Amino acid sequence: MTEQFKIGFIGLGIMGAPMAKNLINAKYEVYVYDIRQESIKNLVESGAIATKNSQDLGEKVDVVVIMVQDSANSEEAIISDNGVLNTLKKGTTIIDMSSISPLVSQKISKLCEQKEVDFLDAPVSGGEPMAISGDLAIMVGGKENVFKKFESIFDVMGKSKVYCGKAGAGNTTKLANQIIVAANIEGLSEALVLSKKAGLDPKVVLNAIQGGLAGSTVMNTKGPMMADGNFTPGFRIKLHQKDLNNALMTAKELGVSIPVTGLIQQMITSLVNEGKGDWDHSGIATFIENISGVKISED
Ligand code: NAD
Repeated sequence: MTEQFKIGFIGLGIMGAPMAKNLINAKYEVYVYDIRQESIKNLVESGAIATKNSQDLGEKVDVVVIMVQDSANSEEAIISDNGVLNTLKKGTTIIDMSSISPLVSQKISKLCEQKEVDFLDAPVSGGEPMAISGDLAIMVGGKENVFKKFESIFDVMGKSKVYCGKAGAGNTTKLANQIIVAANIEGLSEALVLSKKAGLDPKVVLNAIQGGLAGSTVMNTKGPMMADGNFTPGFRIKLHQKDLNNALMTAKELGVSIPVTGLIQQMITSLVNEGKGDWDHSGIATFIENISGVKISED
């Protein structure tokens, strides 16, 4: 029989809200907290139990799932003076599913260990549609026995869960994912700008090549957005900026060179400075459009 943990869920945004709803639908008792009261209210309407703050939540649960934006948010929610680690009992667990720096995951993991609280870093790939359908790809770092203990929870939120190694390994794997996605989007942008300038229809080009070696999930989902000039998020440019910043910091720490990631991070920074941080990351195409004087979506 599946163990019926009492679950705390902190961070009820684009991703966290549907993930918490799926846990409620799977009949778990779910206690929720977000700094935005409106987000708590929405989840309570779906059957969650509201808490006053992270510490109040920590007193009530066996395991806490975190889904906040970045490293600073995770530190605030977990290890700050107001953090959930202050009130969690010994033997409980924190599963941080936010995409944050692996170095910060390792720091949080060590502090949890001192309090005899288990820690997993378990970021996801798939975006809002997969969060809603419970089909996320989940990559997990931490102790393997703790990963195994919570497989039933991962199964509710994701279609795949892979144990990647010790604390931080989940977020290192997520960085690998984000480097590949960024390079794919940038290459796709250059390919469509070139095709458009040559007088071709970008949709015809996509149709011709998507079944070949260049075909990818990025091409299938982001190509049509570029062809239509529709950059409604999806995954926001500013979140990808955060991920590439973390990749570059981790590369510096490890002494490896990832030059193309650095270049794309600079393109993204210029887009954020132009006020496009909340656009979908397919909007990287507009950087290439602007330096070439070509608009992919123009009739
Ligand atoms: P979001 O901004 O929509 O949600 C984050 C939520 O966390 C917000 O509701 C915010 O109020 C809350 N929050 C922040 N700090 C808090 C704190 N200290 N205590 C309580 N609540 C706090 O972000 P999102 O799009 O849901 O992304 C969450 C994470 O998932 C990010 O790390 C992101 O990179 C990753 N991710 C997002 C997507 C996507 O498509 N949106 C896809 C894969 C991974």
